[in-house]
Amino acid sequence: MSRNAELFERACRSIPGGVNSPVRAFRSVGGTPRFVARAQGPYFWDAEDKRYIDYIGSWGPAILGHAHPKVVKAVQDAAVHGLSYGAPTEAEIRIAELLIERMPSMQQVRLTSSGTEATMSAIRLARGATGRNKIIKFEGCYHGHADSLLVKAGSGLLTFGNPTSAGVPAEFVAHTIVLDFNDSQAVVQAFEAHGNDIACVIVEPMAGNMNLVKPASGFLQTLRDQCTAHGAVLIFDEVMTGFRVGPQGVQGITGVTPDLTTLAKVIGGGMPIGAFGGRKDIMSHIAPLGGVYQAGTLSGNPVAVAAGITTLELLGEPGFYDQLSQQTNKLTAGLCSAAQRHGIDFSADSEGGMFGIYFSKSIPTTLDDVSASNIEQFKAFFHAMLDRGVYFAPSAYEAGFVSCMHDDAVIEATVEAADAAFASLAKA
Ligand SMILES: *Cc1c(COP(=O)(O)O)cnc(C)c1O
Repeated sequence: MSRNAELFERACRSIPGGVNSPVRAFRSVGGTPRFVARAQGPYFWDAEDKRYIDYIGSWGPAILGHAHPKVVKAVQDAAVHGLSYGAPTEAEIRIAELLIERMPSMQQVRLTSSGTEATMSAIRLARGATGRNKIIKFEGCYHGHADSLLVKAGSGLLTFGNPTSAGVPAEFVAHTIVLDFNDSQAVVQAFEAHGNDIACVIVEPMAGNMNLVKPASGFLQTLRDQCTAHGAVLIFDEVMTGFRVGPQGVQGITGVTPDLTTLAKVIGGGMPIGAFGGRKDIMSHIAPLGGVYQAGTLSGNPVAVAAGITTLELLGEPGFYDQLSQQTNKLTAGLCSAAQRHGIDFSADSEGGMFGIYFSKSIPTTLDDVSASNIEQFKAFFHAMLDRGVYFAPSAYEAGFVSCMHDDAVIEATVEAADAAFASLAKA
């Protein structure tokens, strides 16, 4: 038995499914997860010392590559002064100032320990600030695992959603309206029907949890207009896209400014962190200033904050995102032409250091489009690439991530592996 298989078997005895987060288990592609021993730059090595080019990057945070020396040094320097205090620090002010400076919508910000906590708190805040209960979310967008967000569309348009997880009472999602991503008309209709009861709209402004799906022209502006007209709070969940697609998130690219923004992933540079922030008048409803309760023993953890500050400073260097986008474009263009050479229906899209690959002729604009792509072919491609030492997300419903350490040689090696993988698919 391989060392990875041995570890997986052992893991399954003490950890449900052998993993601490479901997608790591390879359930949707089959096979044995790789157990990571160490990582550096664009690579990680598994328990058998096999090297992989990594296009997950911890699901987004590793935008500087793994174990960036300056980030590691910041963590080491912070750690010797104590791991957690439960009292405020100057470094927390510094990271708050950096986030406010960079994110167009942020006037004030509060730190959490994960993206889930950030979105959960932002929704409670929106409800508390408006005195309303209902929220709108979109099919295929993921906002962490809080009860009211684990929901899919009900049977008809404008009906309330059904829980997507056991353990979530139907009553807990009774206030969640689920609409199709990119369906502006449905948003207008929902506000016509429930406008006075809608506390907020939460959206991944560029979806990355149903593979990468970009907002259709006018969609985000419709959300902005409807929220403004009806006094609802617009929340951009930029946990994935924040500092990943560009220096100011999707809000910087589209010019549509939400009332609240949630962040995590990149802003912790690999350490556990999250944040939510936005309009000062809304943020003033949070305890200790206001009646909306929100707290965290490890929120603003000094080691995580040190990693975050150093990461954000490095991302602020001139030309960082131009260079990153260029490398991502080289990757997607290379993959597309390799697929074409072998007659495989394939398309790809990207923004900054985030990309989507789809086994379909055209780029998807909805969750249904992604589901209609050739998922079986994706699975075969995933394993063909894994065998060749390239690690893509083990699901057709996940985006991919490029770091600034993915240089030309790394991209070329990836495209070369893909050429061979597509050739094997064409023969199958
Ligand atoms: C990852 C993610 C979350 C959840 O963040 P965690 O840190 O895993 O809790 C929320 N929203 C989006 C858009 C994400 O990509």
